[in-house]
Amino acid sequence: MSHPNPIDAVETARAVAAGELSAEQVVTRALNAARDLGGRLNLFLSLDRERALDRARAVDSARAAGRALGPLAGVPVALKANMCAEGFESNCASRILAGYHAPYTATFVMRLLDAGAIPIGVTNMDEFAMGSSGENSAFGPAKNPWDEARTPGGSSSGAAGAVAAGIVPIALGSDTGGSVRQPAALCGILGLKPTYGRISRYGLIAFASSLDQVSPFARSVRDLELLLELLSGADPLDSTSLPLAPLGRSGEEGARLDGLRIGVPAQYMPAGLDPRVRTAIEASLATFESLGAKLVEVSLPHTDAAIACYYVVATAEASSNLARFEGVRYGMRELGDGSLQGMMAATRAAGFGPEVKRRILLGTYVLSSGYYAAWYGQALKVRRLLRRDFDRAFEQCDVIAGPTSPTPAFRLGAKTADPVAMYLNDILTAPASLAGLPALSLPCGFAEESGTRLPLGLQLIAPPLEDARVLRAARAFESATDFHTQHPALFAS
Ligand code: GLN
Repeated sequence: MSHPNPIDAVETARAVAAGELSAEQVVTRALNAARDLGGRLNLFLSLDRERALDRARAVDSARAAGRALGPLAGVPVALKANMCAEGFESNCASRILAGYHAPYTATFVMRLLDAGAIPIGVTNMDEFAMGSSGENSAFGPAKNPWDEARTPGGSSSGAAGAVAAGIVPIALGSDTGGSVRQPAALCGILGLKPTYGRISRYGLIAFASSLDQVSPFARSVRDLELLLELLSGADPLDSTSLPLAPLGRSGEEGARLDGLRIGVPAQYMPAGLDPRVRTAIEASLATFESLGAKLVEVSLPHTDAAIACYYVVATAEASSNLARFEGVRYGMRELGDGSLQGMMAATRAAGFGPEVKRRILLGTYVLSSGYYAAWYGQALKVRRLLRRDFDRAFEQCDVIAGPTSPTPAFRLGAKTADPVAMYLNDILTAPASLAGLPALSLPCGFAEESGTRLPLGLQLIAPPLEDARVLRAARAFESATDFHTQHPALFAS
């Protein structure tokens, strides 16, 4: 069989529709790779082999019967473990939700299924999506396919690793402050956080509701475009989903970017930036110039306040969202001293990991009476200033470009003792999240470190609702470079 790994979802669906590959072959191969390579890298928390194979056979029979196939018919996809779908254990990589099966299916999963895609399993993550390295998973950290001693990034660590390792062509993660863009960068693949509200959150277990956004991973821009078209669009089940039609694909080849103004914020290229990151970003900016784009310097003066702002807003929302896990309605229960209070306290003490507890404490504090105005209220004002920074910058440019992550993938264990060092990873991704903007990370180079090649990511940010604009810039960059075609040595084949 000609193997589908180096090809993207669009090509996989074409090969299945043309009868060059059966969906059963494609899905069997993905399931086996998820078990073997995924097992070695701790990428998946559970696989749904039987249902996936049944769905694959249904695609093959539909084809044999001459019925029309969906645009993702036969394409295996991985989900993040905070996504609800019938048949999957949606445990958020937390002990408190071990064994939890949602009684309903997320809108975005329904839309994938309607397009013929085949979910094969749920992937490892930081517990409740809180983290930047995957190390806050209750089930052990996922490993980076480029170097198993390093993090794939987080919190969507397993989903990013599964795409980078060639197990699936596409996966869904969630991005609250960078959890899709940062792992995409560290794993050498693409990740798109759409405008807040573009994709329904119904069926995504909430971390910070004003920031959470379902976000796809892929190895090509056209796959991201297809996923955005399929997943976007209003949903009556999510009152924060935008009342807009799905975003169509442009259909252009987009080889040139004549006249596009690319803004480069000084704050995203600080003097202390890792020189390998700087070199790759400068080369990427030169590529954009060669494609006809014009570079302009812009300023985002409140960038320094973004981490403090993010970790107040996100923890405040998390403390409220996670109140529902009390041993009564979902997942595990510890009886404690037998009283109701005792049961709830014992369940939460045993069920949540240390980072989740830290955030619940912090979030409860910043919302508490007497401190609310000083912390949460203040953070909301800073959030507004960050958005205003972007609005002003976009008066001078069409797209903002810079690094996605200040460093390449770091070693597992390097930052676990220092939460603030871990939080600082998000400095380049949290601002666009707080402002609700569409932002994408795509492969833009490699850093050599002790004999291994570590991928680097370029982040592109556009004004609200201009998701198509970041995709257009990414498509031109992709056609002029070959970073996205490079795979780690253990790429599944
Ligand atoms: N690393 C950030 C955090 O820990 C972002 C997480 C996310 O986007 N889910 O909150």
